[in-house]
Amino acid sequence: MNIENSIKLFDRANKVTPGGVNSPVRAFKSVGTNPLFIKKGKGSHIWDEDGNEFIDFCCSWGPLIHGHAPESVIKTIVDVASEGTSFGTPNYLEVELAEQIVSNHNYIEQIRFVSSGTEAVMSAIRLARGVTKRDKIIKFSGCYHGHADHLLVKAGSGLATFGTSSSAGVPEAFANETIVLPLNDINALKDAFETYKDQIACIIVEPIPANNGLLLQEKSYLEFLRTITKENNSLLIFDEVISGFRIGFEGAAGYYNIQPDIMTYGKIIGGGLPVGAYASTTEIMNNISPNGDVYQAGTLSGNPVAMAAGIAQLKLCLKDDFYSDLEDKTKRLKDGIQNHATQKSYPVTIPQIGSILWFAFEKDADIKSDDQIDPKSMGYFKQLHQYLLSEGIYFAPSGYEVTFVSSAHSDEDIDKTISAVNSGLDKIFGA
Ligand SMILES: *Cc1c(COP(=O)(O)O)cnc(C)c1O
Repeated sequence: MNIENSIKLFDRANKVTPGGVNSPVRAFKSVGTNPLFIKKGKGSHIWDEDGNEFIDFCCSWGPLIHGHAPESVIKTIVDVASEGTSFGTPNYLEVELAEQIVSNHNYIEQIRFVSSGTEAVMSAIRLARGVTKRDKIIKFSGCYHGHADHLLVKAGSGLATFGTSSSAGVPEAFANETIVLPLNDINALKDAFETYKDQIACIIVEPIPANNGLLLQEKSYLEFLRTITKENNSLLIFDEVISGFRIGFEGAAGYYNIQPDIMTYGKIIGGGLPVGAYASTTEIMNNISPNGDVYQAGTLSGNPVAMAAGIAQLKLCLKDDFYSDLEDKTKRLKDGIQNHATQKSYPVTIPQIGSILWFAFEKDADIKSDDQIDPKSMGYFKQLHQYLLSEGIYFAPSGYEVTFVSSAHSDEDIDKTISAVNSGLDKIFGA
């Protein structure tokens, strides 16, 4: 495959941008190739700067649930932008997107728009602390919540201990306010609430953990999070930046029928433009400025072009059978690969929910926490990724990342991908 132009661009980028990228995983470090510079996308396909064409299963890391450049979304972006891109005043599109969401989502009464998932989570945690007047938070190892200081924290040694920062530049004093626990461990939670009684503002969890493999949890475990937070007057935050509008319009809250106190959104909600949001009951949201004393603001929050893109995108999601059709397609992809792998006794298990799937390189895997993933198995993903690129198929460039199916993927795309992945697996695991 000729990637000369991508190589040249990466050289130029490295001179003017740290690591040549504006977000680290784009550097393709874990798959050992030069990153591809993508020039354009249409539907399920993308093209790089050298003219190579790929079926895209990264979908910009999740936002593009209808594939690239869906007509109605692009048309509204162009129409709205031609009338001005930002006013710094309220505009009707913010109201429309909020109404569209609230009126189709039983778990939300009010929503505030920000500009990224990180900002949404940061604001949600501040809100939880402001409401409870407590400082400590619980997060889980294997869940990602963006790059706010108190969330760049990894587990310390032993259960129910404070975390230590996982990034330089995060003060240990901040990390000390974050308790990091393993997923799928009810006793660890009980211990933490006992040890830090009346100090825990909230639990934040990806109800469908999809940033470190796909660590699907039992519904009963998620229900336990709801119970223990209620018992301790702490809040439960569902970080739905990936799962929101992906698993269904009501995200994981709707899927599991669990009412969290605060939900955060990003990715799909902005129709491919930078939007995040956090949402809750009117009572809790009343604590946010200008009504309440929890401060949060944004120069470009509720940006009209981004709001319009979100409205157009979510409108397509609200069509009858949208989510069930998408899931059927995803299951077909999964089954086509899993059946082959099982028949050949390859060490491959494909956890899947809605239109998200992931490759675990282990037989009959039931992986519910990050420490169950064997880092060595990621070597197989690297080989598979390189093979698939040569076959014109693009998966996210890391084995810890999930695969997203969009409504733009055709039956032909799915068939081609099944047969390419299967011959990739034959090459890797075949005798
Ligand atoms: C992507 C993601 C974030 C961060 O969102 P950004 O828009 O990248 O800042 C936070 N939480 C979850 C669950 C995510 O998947």
